[in-house]
Formats: sequence, structure tokens, C-alpha cells
Amino acid sequence: MNRRDCLKSSVVLLAGAVASGCDGQGAGNGGSADVSSASGLSDREAMYDHGAPPIGTSGWTMPTGVLPGYPVLAQELDADVVVVGAGLAGSSLALHLAEAGISVAVLEARQPGWGASGRNAGHVLPTLKDVALFERFPDGGKAFLHLFREHHTITFDLARKHGIACDAVQSGYLHATSRASVFDKLKVKSVYWKEQQGQQVEWLEGADVEALTGSSYFSRGVLYRSGGRVNPYLLTNGMISAAVARGAGVFGGTEALSLARSGARWRVVTAQGAVVADRVVFCTNAYPTAIVPQFTNNFYPLTAYALSTKPLPRTALDIIMPSRATLSEEPVDLNPFVIDEHGRIITSSIPSVSRPDDAEWHFAKHLRWIHRTWPQTRDIKIELEHYWTGRVALRDIEFPGVFELERGVFGLMHFNAWGNLMAPLLGMALAGAMARDRMDQLPFPLETPVPVANPGKQELIIRKLMIPAARLGQRLGMI
Ligand SMILES: Cc1cc2nc3c(=O)[nH]c(=O)nc-3n(C[C@H](O)[C@H](O)[C@H](O)COP(=O)(O)OP(=O)(O)OC[C@H]3O[C@@H](n4cnc5c(N)ncnc54)[C@H](O)[C@@H]3O)c2cc1C
Repeated sequence: MNRRDCLKSSVVLLAGAVASGCDGQGAGNGGSADVSSASGLSDREAMYDHGAPPIGTSGWTMPTGVLPGYPVLAQELDADVVVVGAGLAGSSLALHLAEAGISVAVLEARQPGWGASGRNAGHVLPTLKDVALFERFPDGGKAFLHLFREHHTITFDLARKHGIACDAVQSGYLHATSRASVFDKLKVKSVYWKEQQGQQVEWLEGADVEALTGSSYFSRGVLYRSGGRVNPYLLTNGMISAAVARGAGVFGGTEALSLARSGARWRVVTAQGAVVADRVVFCTNAYPTAIVPQFTNNFYPLTAYALSTKPLPRTALDIIMPSRATLSEEPVDLNPFVIDEHGRIITSSIPSVSRPDDAEWHFAKHLRWIHRTWPQTRDIKIELEHYWTGRVALRDIEFPGVFELERGVFGLMHFNAWGNLMAPLLGMALAGAMARDRMDQLPFPLETPVPVANPGKQELIIRKLMIPAARLGQRLGMI
């Protein structure tokens, strides 16, 4: 798959999945998630445009509110590993390291779950976008695909194992369509997951798919039983709590400011403290600060939004997605869809360039689609509750970036729109290799970060051209 195809499919997935201090979390200074804008946007618009509104705007904080923060690091610590960034990747890495008896310190510029992990659409997609890319792996992808087969339910498994109440429900992942040709392609793709990965996959038509969706709009669908949904903010924080219970030190409002050698080890300095460690892993994804310049320019940032409705009235809950499967409309999904444990619709897409903060404008588009898809809901009151944005990191290939910058300095990042499964999975795999001191046994190659040309251009192409065109196409019934 070439770069253009990869980016296109990223958009489809995102459109289809998918400055701290102002969020009341005692945050650090927020580094390079700079929300100032030269584009003529107001400060508020620029904040949404950069995927950095307060985490309290995220609907995933709704059940608990913004969780109490972790303290600022105000001492000099010694650890085996220091993890920078506490999203799904850093939290999983820290938890699995702590479980293996490795001493770990986590530094988070804001608070755990502040980044994309507290802001996403909640989909747990149990497949990979591009299986062909594994041909590039030295072992042809054998080790990774084996890992994926064994652990593609890791999101649910971690929640169960650690008693994390994060609405992790294996309610199935449905790719639904109204077109026979698209259905044929979905079926072809699903054969690999059925036959090589042993997943329970169902091909559904007519009344069978309607029974899942409650809509006659979709006449066909491919259902992956092992997928579903999760509240990613609570999963992230649950993993962090479990890591703390196993001895990890977690520090919020603690931006890693500089990195320097300390003999054969590394010293990470923060505003009020420092950690000396054998290894440092940056899990900063699309919110990197300037501390390691090589991790700031090796991906394509893309801002996405999500929104949640107020809990739906009972009548609507009976009509819309009665199976509660996670829904992705094919071939282009501008309305990826979960209904959570509170009976709220959570959906996500790419925000308008000129009105990134306009909750009602974006909600109106989803509501129109809901009414088209479930016409019986036209007289039922469906109301917006939360609207928020976040940042995704896209790559040229459909696989996250696992980097070794120098001996002992790593990056685990760039999870595109499938971090709910892949970030915990890769965090576990990296922790396992570190704990055994066998980095040569990692089930994926360690790369060197390479800058991408014009990182911002892609976001403009996607947001200015592709998404508006897709919205128009869908409105005209062309896609
Ligand atoms: C709107 C939206 C919808 C999405 N939908 C889905 C979906 O449905 N399913 C799915 O699987 N994925 C989805 N994603 C993608 C998913 O959220 C990400 O892939 C995942 O959260 C990445 O996790 P992470 O831990 O790598 O990064 P993040 O959660 O972004 O965490 C990075 C952290 O690093 C911290 N940091 C940065 N620099 C420093 C520093 N110097 N010192 C200390 N801390 C630092 C930041 O504060 C931040 O908390 C979506 C994303 C968005 C934005």
C-alpha cells in the first residue's frame, strides 16, 4: 500500500472509527501542543483545532468526572525504566513492566488519559488494516500475527483481569453496507481473520443484519464477534492504577523537559525533579513536546473530534443498534458508532477547518444521518451532551512506530485510529522484551525515526478536501 492509499484508508477509518493548564488537572506547561494559531482562528477555535480542549470536555469523563490527578515529581528518582506519556501505550507498558517486577516511573505532562486515549471514539476493532505490510518484517510477520491471534481481545482481557470498570464490552464489531460490491470486498477481507486468525466472523444479509442494526438501510454486514467498545479514559486510568498497585511511580503535571546521558544510563529532567534510568520510552504519540525532536516530525498529525449524546430515551434505545455492536458504515464511514453503558451514542469524525469548535454544527450532521438510518427516531429527542477533539498520529504504513533512537532510548507511538487495541498490545510486547532483556525477540522491528515531508499538509488535504467531499457524496447518496 503506498503512502496515499495508507492515508486515505486512515481517513476512512478515522472518519470511520476515526496547553494544558486549562483542564483543571494541575497540568504542566504542555510543551509543544501549542494551541496558538496563525490561521486567524480564535484561541478557543485553535484549542479545538489542535485537539487540546480540556479533558473534562470528553464524554468519556462523564461517568466519573475528571479523575483526581497524580502528584508532580519533586525529587530525584532511580528506576529501571522511565515511561514518558500516560496514554494507553504508556499505561500498558508501565503496567506490564511493573507486573514483571521492573521498577518503572511514569512522567505525564498533564494527567493519565489526557491525550488521544481520553478522547477517542471507543471502538475496539479486532483486525489490522494491512496484512500485506508484514512481508516487510524480517520473519514475514509470523511472530506479530501470532501475538495478535492470541491477544486481539487484550482490551477486554486487561479490563477483566485488573477489575477495571471501563465499559469494555465485546458486543461485536459490524462493518455494515447497503452495497453488494462492498459486501463482497468485506467478505474477502474477512477470510484471513476467520481462517488464519481463528476469529468468529459472520456474513449477514437481509433480516439478519437488520436485526443487529435495527435499520433496513444496511442490507449486508460482516460481524467480528470479538470486537466491541471501551471507555478509553477509564481503561487508561485503570491500567495506571493497576501499575501503581504493583509499585510503579506515576507523576502528573510532570513534563519530561530534557534527556541526557548519566554514565551508561539516562537522566530525564522535569521542572522539579529527575529520574535516572537504564531505559527511557517515549509514548507521546501525537502530542510530543520538544524534548526529542526526532519524535516531533516523524508522523502526520490529524485532529479528529468525537461527541456524545445525552442518554437516549428508551424508545430510541429499542430502535437504534439493538445488538449494541460497534458500527462502521462501509465503504466510507462518517458516523462511526457506539452506544455505551449509559445509553449514549458516541460518534466521531474529522472537524471542519473553519469551525473546529462548533459542537452543534457537527452534531447536526450526525443527527441527520441518524434520522436517515433510523427514520422511526425522527420524532424522538436526541440531544448533544459533550463535544471534544483530539489528535491522531498517522504514518506512511499501517503499523505503529516502535523506535530505538539510541541505546536505551525508545519510542512507542503513532497508533492512528486503532490505539484501543494496538497500544495495550504493543505496550505488553515491549514490556515483555524489556523484562527478559531480549529486545531481539520483539515481534516487530525496531525502527529509526525518519522525518516526514510536510507533516501538516496531509491534515489540510484530509480536512479541506477529502472529508468535505465525502460528506457531500454521502449526502447525495453517491457513497
Ligand atoms: C477523536 C479520536 C477518535 C479515535 N477513535 C479511536 C477508536 O475508536 N478506536 C481506537 O482504537 N483508536 C481511536 N483513536 C486513536 C487512539 O485514541 C490513539 O491511537 C491512542 O489513544 C494513542 O495512545 P497513546 O498512549 O499512544 O497516546 P496519547 O493518549 O495521545 O498519550 C500521549 C501522552 O503523552 C503526554 N506527553 C507528551 N509529551 C510529554 C512529555 N514531554 N512529558 C510527559 N508527558 C508527555 C501527553 O500529555 C499525552 O497524555 C481515536 C483518536 C481520536 C483523537
